[in-house]
Amino acid sequence: MKSWDVIVIGSGAAGFAAAVTACCKGLSVLMLEKAPHFGGTSAISGGAVWINDTDQARAAGKSGAPDEMKTYLHTIIGEANYRPEIVDAFVNAGREALAFLEQEGAVKYSLRPLSPDYYPDEPGAVDVGRALEVVEYDGRELGEHFTTLRSPPPGMLLFGGMMVNRVDIQHFLDMRRSWRSFRHCTKLLLRYGRDRLRHHRGTRLAMGNALIARMAALALRKGLTLELNVTVKSLIEQNGRVTGVEIARDGKSLALYARRGVVLAAGGFAAGRIAPQFRPATQQHYTMSPATNDGAAFQLGLGVDARQGADLPSNFFWAPVSVLRRPDGSEERFPHLVTDRAKPGVIAVNQRGVRFVNESNSYHHFASAMQQQPENAPAICYAMPRR
Ligand SMILES: Cc1cc2nc3c(=O)[nH]c(=O)nc-3n(C[C@H](O)[C@H](O)[C@H](O)COP(=O)(O)OP(=O)(O)OC[C@H]3O[C@@H](n4cnc5c(N)ncnc54)[C@H](O)[C@@H]3O)c2cc1C
Repeated sequence: MKSWDVIVIGSGAAGFAAAVTACCKGLSVLMLEKAPHFGGTSAISGGAVWINDTDQARAAGKSGAPDEMKTYLHTIIGEANYRPEIVDAFVNAGREALAFLEQEGAVKYSLRPLSPDYYPDEPGAVDVGRALEVVEYDGRELGEHFTTLRSPPPGMLLFGGMMVNRVDIQHFLDMRRSWRSFRHCTKLLLRYGRDRLRHHRGTRLAMGNALIARMAALALRKGLTLELNVTVKSLIEQNGRVTGVEIARDGKSLALYARRGVVLAAGGFAAGRIAPQFRPATQQHYTMSPATNDGAAFQLGLGVDARQGADLPSNFFWAPVSVLRRPDGSEERFPHLVTDRAKPGVIAVNQRGVRFVNESNSYHHFASAMQQQPENAPAICYAMPRR
């Protein structure tokens, strides 16, 4: 009988946070990923975290009172949906969780010098102190696993293969004006050129890619077994406890057991058929999540009597997304998060030419405003330009 202490389903930031923590505590861990690549949505994300009163914030003199953060969250979430036990756990334990992962070498974060909260005018909001960004990482540390780390789509990379972070982008914009920026960019370009002689893309990883790579590298060094292309068919329940999973491999069913627990960290359901229940039914939806985030994992939970929240007011991480058709007919999606949408010179109008939103609002608010436009003046355009 094959068994581990912990089985983790899903290889995004949630799955790896659980897996690397268990590995650091000396437990044996098996991670099962449905996709051929690991990292999920997390690997193409910004990787930024929003946590109160971290060591980094304290060092910068920006330690935040927990009550201020709770006031902010209370205002944003609203009285009807505010769950104090969940908010308290997040606010009170966030600092310790991040510090643990940092001390073990599973993550590395720095404080963003200026990063206003998404609703900066609401009570409890701050300009600096809660948002932290990932420190870059060398993908070569992953060895052979670098090839199966999920890559952001080429449109999110320079030259289709080079990752840049917030600081690098500023240097590229300044490289003709500043000697320091010129040097920074030259170094990046030379490294990228060298990388491409040996690797399928640049090995200097940033943002969510660096986050996943760093956690994966440590977990793998500590003995994590990572299996890709695995479909979990059901959770095994014995005497009211989940004790394992049944998977399909090479056309056969196989039972795998977990002595301490099974962690369901399979992302959301944005790419699945289940999604239309939770969004305006008339609207087509383009998600940045991998196709494997299809909600099947929800069915696994429901199969052992877990309950799905029915009263969630906001089930999606909304963002405006452009869809590009490549000459070969394939499709690429690009999320308009920070690099363009809110910059001077951009005005967002609906199809009647009426400005409908403050372009600098959070992407979530922006996309909600798009959805709320009247039928005779839509702000969502589905025509895909051919090049
Ligand atoms: C462009 C972009 C930028 C973002 N930036 C940020 C940011 O800076 N900060 C932030 O906090 N959030 C950000 N987000 C949101 C964030 O990426 C997600 O909330 C987060 O990645 C979810 O992590 P996860 O581990 O739950 O899921 P995922 O990272 O999606 O991982 C889930 C994994 O589970 C696998 N899986 C699914 N079903 C099964 C199954 N049945 N069996 C096995 N495996 C399965 C999937 O293939 C996937 O690999 C961003 C999102 C996008 C699209």
